[in-house]
Amino acid sequence: TSAEAPARAVAKSAKLANVCYEIRGPVLERARQMEEEGHRIIKLNTGNPAAFGFEAPEEITQDMIRNMGNAAGYVDSKGIFPARKAIMHYTQEKKIANVHVDDIYIGNGASELIVMAMQALLNNDDEVLVPAPDYPLWTAAVNLSGGKARHYLCDPNNGWLPAIDDIKKKITPRTKAIVVINPNNPTGAVYPDDVLQAIIELARQHNLVVCSDEIYDKVLYDGVTHTSMAALADDVLFLTFNGLSKNYRACGYRAGWMVVSGEKRYAADYIEGLNILATMRLCANVPAQYGIQTALGGYQSINDLVKPTGRLTRQRDIAYEALSSMPGVSVVKPKGALYMFPRFDPKMYPIVDDQQFVLELLEAERVLLVQGTGFNWATPDRIRVVFLPNSDDLTEVMGRIARFLDGYRKR
Ligand code: PLP
Repeated sequence: TSAEAPARAVAKSAKLANVCYEIRGPVLERARQMEEEGHRIIKLNTGNPAAFGFEAPEEITQDMIRNMGNAAGYVDSKGIFPARKAIMHYTQEKKIANVHVDDIYIGNGASELIVMAMQALLNNDDEVLVPAPDYPLWTAAVNLSGGKARHYLCDPNNGWLPAIDDIKKKITPRTKAIVVINPNNPTGAVYPDDVLQAIIELARQHNLVVCSDEIYDKVLYDGVTHTSMAALADDVLFLTFNGLSKNYRACGYRAGWMVVSGEKRYAADYIEGLNILATMRLCANVPAQYGIQTALGGYQSINDLVKPTGRLTRQRDIAYEALSSMPGVSVVKPKGALYMFPRFDPKMYPIVDDQQFVLELLEAERVLLVQGTGFNWATPDRIRVVFLPNSDDLTEVMGRIARFLDGYRKR
């Protein structure tokens, strides 16, 4: 009977109370349904290059295939030696000092390592400074680990750079770490050295671990260069995250890594924690590890995509021009990554619930986007746009968004 039902209900754990990942949330469910009903939906919801005709470099795939016969067994929990050696060389290229093969952890994407890094670090109610907006896995990983994500502002009126004063205000005795996403998802900002130095200085003063998510460090436009934060100091503990997903357009292979560097002397206990978690999951997916050395040492085809005439640059420009010309829409031109985070002037678009807004856009125009609050942005006035679709599709999508907005203004 229904009276017995509650006792039998299987509930999710309380640990998940503040854990969400709306990039794959309820709006995506509706999009799936619509596809089943026969509609073609243009999806701008995930940074999945393969879904838009971008191919992983052939040599990476071939190396994995060639090594398949050697990849059936478990390997070292931190990853196979040649891959970690190649990552070590990459840290040297990025001028990160004093990294040994042992400081490198390979995971099933950076995602797994982000969760591991937080699980190993946080006690209940410890705080981590996370950017707003953020790539929401970071907030979710902190909260899942019992910690509290405290969001610091990245300022759209200052090219989306982290607001140092806001970071200062949010540091408490419980703050254990600060997350920096650079190049940034969802804003496309790339941070100059002085901003990185200012964050490092705060980390130094307050003994914070710096978690630098640099997974887009080769996806750079207009000749900007990327500085790895860990290259700027050796007296702070850095965890640097990177992988094959974006720079090499191979996110399905699930190969990412984390590099521990800087002030390791006082971190032996934490590193032991990381090692416990790494060994608990035995090892990361092995075949993909065979692609890492080839990727890092091979031809960097990403450069062809981000040069002025490259596909990604052209698509960024199409999306940027189109959005900028829509009434009441403002957007900062991305310098890196695959996204932009436009704002809809609340006077023209009085959005109350931005999930409802993207749902209506989906129903009306068959375009799938993620609402800004899904990236821990506090006000319902933004969406994230992924500029991976080819120029024709992107032009089509922008037309549909413009049409939807016209109707929205006339309500
Ligand atoms: N970090 C950022 C900023 C991302 O945007 C993503 C994926 O979109 C990830 C990490 C996860 O990457 P991976 O595929 O290596 O798990």
